[in-house]
Amino acid sequence: MAVPQRRTSKTRRDKRRTHFKLEVPGMVKCDNCGESKLAHRVCKVCGHYKKREIISQ
Ligand SMILES: [Zn+2]
Repeated sequence: MAVPQRRTSKTRRDKRRTHFKLEVPGMVKCDNCGESKLAHRVCKVCGHYKKREIISQ
């Protein structure tokens, strides 16, 4: 069985975990309502994209 030759240092372990994030990346604030939304996507709350484009409502 493969076993690591040496223990991973605290620094190496913690550097690896810098990519651990609580939230999904790509969340931005909506220009219209200020709600958090996925970047490059129409806001699902107010239907706006690129400042004024109204998709629904
Ligand atoms: Zn919005």
